[in-house]
Amino acid sequence: MFPEQNVMKDPFGRTINYLRISVTDRCDLRCRYCMPAKGVVRVPMARILSFEEILELARIAVDMGVDKIRLTGGEPLVRRGIERLVHMLAQIPGVRDLAMTTNAQQLQRLAPALAEAGLMRVNISLDTLDAQVFTHLTRGGDLQKTLDGIAAARAAGLTPIKLNCVVQRSADEPHARAVADFAQKEGLQARFIQQMDFESGYFAQVDGGDGGDCPRCNRLRLSADGRIRPCLFSDLGFSVRELGPKRALIQALQNKPLRGGRCAENPMRGVGG
Ligand code: SF4
Repeated sequence: MFPEQNVMKDPFGRTINYLRISVTDRCDLRCRYCMPAKGVVRVPMARILSFEEILELARIAVDMGVDKIRLTGGEPLVRRGIERLVHMLAQIPGVRDLAMTTNAQQLQRLAPALAEAGLMRVNISLDTLDAQVFTHLTRGGDLQKTLDGIAAARAAGLTPIKLNCVVQRSADEPHARAVADFAQKEGLQARFIQQMDFESGYFAQVDGGDGGDCPRCNRLRLSADGRIRPCLFSDLGFSVRELGPKRALIQALQNKPLRGGRCAENPMRGVGG
């Protein structure tokens, strides 16, 4: 499986060098395309991996060939002490890219400490520049907080900043065009993510990114409940605590599908896309 040091190949010959780590399924927003109105059953805290467990897993993954790590959620900034985890991961030799995906509601406060800890760059969720629509879509979020978070990330050097804009079907939708214009004016990169349907297995490649490009898939995911998932559009997951980090990673790699399919459950909250 690992003929060469530090190169990880899946059964289809794809090089896997990217680990997305969901540090929590909790979030301070309730986006309508992610969270049902009635709320969700949260992962019991006892099942969420400690920073030390995440660090051990990340070290082994880097040994096996990972050089790119992204922290996700839920919302990673609601995990207390997240800057400490960033610092731990930034010390791992071989991590070439350490990034985070955030809704930026708390980024103005945390950006300096995250940059100091070793975070390199951020992707920020922004679906509209209309403050009322923003609050409606997120069930209570504050657009100005996100804009202040973008400014704080730039000031802290967490660049390049990419904007993740969720669309129904295309980047030509009015809110998406406004986000594209904003990104161009501000020198940011906008990416457009079509709403996914896990039940039917519908997803599209990210417009402006490489997510959803199955033939060139390079990623594994650690879910908030401590399982390594070979694919976002698969129910398969291998428990880090039951199997141990190395075996969980190897089994996930060996069971990586050629392309995503249907899922019995919507994993978004606990996998972070
Ligand atoms: S659907 Fe699965 S195989 Fe396809 S790009 Fe996403 S994670 Fe990779």
